[in-house]
Amino acid sequence: TKPAELVPLAEPGRTSDGFEVPLLANVGSGKDARGAALAAAEGIGLFRTEFAFLDRADEPGVEEQVAQYRAVLNAFPGRRVVIRTLDAGSDKPMPFLTIPGEPNPALGIRGYRTAVDNPEVLARQLAAIVRASEDSEADVWVMAPMISTVDEAAAFARLAREAGVRKVGVMVETPSAALQTADLLEHVDFVSVGTNDLTQYTMAADRQATSLGELQDPWQPGVLRLLREVGRAATEAGKSAGICGEAASDPLLASVLVGLGITSLSMGPRALHSVGATLAAASLEQCRRAADAACAAPTAAAAKQAVADVLGGGR
Ligand code: PEP
Ligand code: MG
Repeated sequence: TKPAELVPLAEPGRTSDGFEVPLLANVGSGKDARGAALAAAEGIGLFRTEFAFLDRADEPGVEEQVAQYRAVLNAFPGRRVVIRTLDAGSDKPMPFLTIPGEPNPALGIRGYRTAVDNPEVLARQLAAIVRASEDSEADVWVMAPMISTVDEAAAFARLAREAGVRKVGVMVETPSAALQTADLLEHVDFVSVGTNDLTQYTMAADRQATSLGELQDPWQPGVLRLLREVGRAATEAGKSAGICGEAASDPLLASVLVGLGITSLSMGPRALHSVGATLAAASLEQCRRAADAACAAPTAAAAKQAVADVLGGGR
């Protein structure tokens, strides 16, 4: 399929009855961020910092990091920019941080786990992020990838706050983190769900295996019910829970996510327009009914059909 045309977002994300849901962009560089600004993204929901350094044998110096981060922050003055600390390992090896030849790299030392043996790499990255934030007008949020336990979240939060980060979060990418969202939110200001990895780990289906398409579907009831727990816990805590995986770029699913209590949606800039249009066509109450119908369905296909029925008719 050919990529969708880049049609800028017509207006800020909101349901037909005015419930606001910021529509943010996923980026990997300053150039991407300038593109996202042209697409009228309301901010950045995921800056994949490892993309800026993927071809590197050695750790980038602090000055170089500051320059890369500044380039993204400068594209969104006054707006939210969520920076993710290095998500190295598995499909994104970085020689200075990851171990080659792990038997199961997706289940190995990746994301935040690399900081256990290399705390100084994370410390330097946090210092660079804080330096870049100091002379920027962006509202900077910082989160760690691949968190499985409360102890990991608490340790990351402590390091980030000591470095001077004001808004600290963690990604929900494992079933364990999803089920413990309430516990995680005792330690951090926000969570953001990486549905690509959450689906991979819930369905035990390698996200890179081309033959496992049906299992790599965030509409699978097991995934939806974990997302329901994330939305429920965040609503109860009164904290922000975004989505930054591919699921946010599926317009029907985006409405379900809003109905589940998800507070922002971040996606490739090309999806912003269609997600915004679909969201604007349904009320918050309809989104909630769509979410209930989706979570009650026994299969992914049944969930999609049930949501199409709720959102398609009776308006
Ligand atoms: C995800 O897992 O959904 C995510 C947003 O992170 P990445 O795709 O970079 O692993
Ligand atoms: Mg991920």
